[in-house]
Amino acid sequence: MTKQIYFTIALLVTLGVFSYTIYRLTSFFRLTKPAFPVRDIGKRIRLTLEVAIGQTKIFRKPVIGLFHALVFWGFLVILIGSIEMIIDGLTGSERVLKFMGVVYNIIIASGDIFALIISILILVFIARRLFFHINRFEGIEMKRRSHVDANIALTIILLLMLSLLGMNSAHCAMEGSGEGNLVGLFPVGNMIAGIYTGLSHSTLHLLHEIFWWSHILLIFLFANMLPYSKHFHVFLSVPNVFLSRLDPLGKLVNMDSVTREVKLMLDPETAFAAPSGDEVPIERFGVKDVEDISWKNYMDALSCTQCGRCTEVCPANITGKMLSPRKIMMDVRERMKIRGPGLVKNGKEFTDGKSLIRDYITEEELWACTTCNACARECPINIDHPSLIVDMRRYLVMEEGSAPAELNTAFNNIENNGAPWQYSTEDRLLWAEGVEIPVMADLFARGEKAEYLFWVGCAGAFDDRYKKVTGAFARILTHLDVSFAVLGKEETCTGDPARRAGNEMLYQMQALQNIETFKAYEVRKIITICPHCFNIFKNDYPDLGADFEVVSYVELLDRFIKEGKLKLDASRLKELTVTYHDPCYLGRANDIYEEPRSVIKSVASNYVEMDRNRSFALCCGAGGAQMFKEAEKGDKEIFIERTEDALKTKANVIATSCPFCMTMITDGLKYKNREDDVKNYDIAELIVQALEL
Ligand code: SF4
Ligand code: SF4
Repeated sequence: MTKQIYFTIALLVTLGVFSYTIYRLTSFFRLTKPAFPVRDIGKRIRLTLEVAIGQTKIFRKPVIGLFHALVFWGFLVILIGSIEMIIDGLTGSERVLKFMGVVYNIIIASGDIFALIISILILVFIARRLFFHINRFEGIEMKRRSHVDANIALTIILLLMLSLLGMNSAHCAMEGSGEGNLVGLFPVGNMIAGIYTGLSHSTLHLLHEIFWWSHILLIFLFANMLPYSKHFHVFLSVPNVFLSRLDPLGKLVNMDSVTREVKLMLDPETAFAAPSGDEVPIERFGVKDVEDISWKNYMDALSCTQCGRCTEVCPANITGKMLSPRKIMMDVRERMKIRGPGLVKNGKEFTDGKSLIRDYITEEELWACTTCNACARECPINIDHPSLIVDMRRYLVMEEGSAPAELNTAFNNIENNGAPWQYSTEDRLLWAEGVEIPVMADLFARGEKAEYLFWVGCAGAFDDRYKKVTGAFARILTHLDVSFAVLGKEETCTGDPARRAGNEMLYQMQALQNIETFKAYEVRKIITICPHCFNIFKNDYPDLGADFEVVSYVELLDRFIKEGKLKLDASRLKELTVTYHDPCYLGRANDIYEEPRSVIKSVASNYVEMDRNRSFALCCGAGGAQMFKEAEKGDKEIFIERTEDALKTKANVIATSCPFCMTMITDGLKYKNREDDVKNYDIAELIVQALEL
């Protein structure tokens, strides 16, 4: 009975402190903004089983991934034993779950084995942290406190496992002494029990009690330490995965408040339309401080394990720039810790003279992001950093007008010329000089319609190198007698660079204008040769009312080849050894990895992969509007790093399928003085070279 009383007091204290912590965190959550509705429960359960329970993303690093997965799975099994201990402690029972018979024995035996495995692995983790220089554990955000925090948590886990093994072995030894009543199976406990030989039953009983109490009190202590440490992910990682954003990585959340303003600008008549009543006045565009973030941003920040897998794959970080996606998460958490209590106490007007942007996260960090989504793809608990980065850019651009000067020039060009460069709309068809290319307006005037709108894109229309790709693809379409037409002078920028750079207003103006044009020509299917156009049409435009099918030219080429419509003579390219650079906005953003490879392999028998390929591919450095500005300072340009990846393969052709990647890789080849012996071709150009006419 005395044990029960002490136990109940310890449990109540634990629950009391824990409840207070949760109450505080809940009050911080109340300061945040809505994120997205939590629907598709079935899909979420599948995702949780796959990513959280199955640990699939952790296995992207197979060896250390297996170590982590074993610790996680072990925790799950041992958790059942811990619940049993709590019931035993409260009721005075002994191994209350033993009625489960064989199942119980399996659970207990697994827990016993896992306790040993976890102990060994934790020692490995501690040794890695203390004695080996692991890059991803370093960085400006990884202060001494972060390392101490990690080491304390690992030590407590080790003590938890050792006390469990001590308890199990003492339990076995009591049975061995002939006076115990062994319940459960303890393969490891039995092995250790030998060390207690000669001890009396009362000593063994005392030892068992010491281990029992040590184990349960460590659990109580750990539970209350977790919310204040990076190991809060022990509680939050599974719910955070369940609450993941389910959209493709390439999609950004639409700013409905901007849509209302843009529609008003484009059609002032709507100014007189009755308000819906549930519209909340917008206090600020984008994110300046923690009161502007969504509940999901905050949950991401609390759940972050600080593992550094995101930062390790970030092209900006790899090339020595200030940006670290892990730091973004740590800064959000730290800022809420500092500012949250003041906001809760004094309301929205509270100020401490600081803000998340600038005092924690600098503009230089924010502008270094290529929105390549490598971080989000890698994060084992599905944290979405790029969306938050874009939200902070939205604040800088729309509230302060403080984008880098080159981006302001690109914005002006888009607004005035319909392209990020200073070219005239009149020149949009120069790429087709001397060739008969059907134009939508002409077809419509004749009462005809094309099956596909061939969306050329700004680079396809104005970039001298990419104009050749546009011509090559148009030649394939004509050769196959595909029913298509272009918009010509009526084409205008999709708004992608503006959107990724935070100028949501300009993006939506472009998008709504394009959607009107598509409606006017009754466009149902669009082909793009630019992954950025493809992504924004596919993922972002539907939020603004777009309703059409969009297909990337690589998908179409793959389909034509598989259907036997494209007759190709592969012998013409037999001298070539080809490698392929995955563009982020076809690959990670939209999971198009196999089609381009299949197209290339249909004409090039010598194909080699770069070490970083498919979802591991390194960005070329041009996405997220980087194409239109100088890179932030660092040790190296991203395009050089990526070109080196390609050169390591010894291929003599680097195939690309994106205008920006082409610019970057071509520049990389020039920088490395390799443009004579290594060529950069677009996939469409490879196909044209092998085309049997
Ligand atoms: S999106 Fe790419 S560049 Fe931006 S933080 Fe993530 S990994 Fe780094
Ligand atoms: S954001 Fe994800 S990948 Fe990055 S440190 Fe946190 S948990 Fe690890």
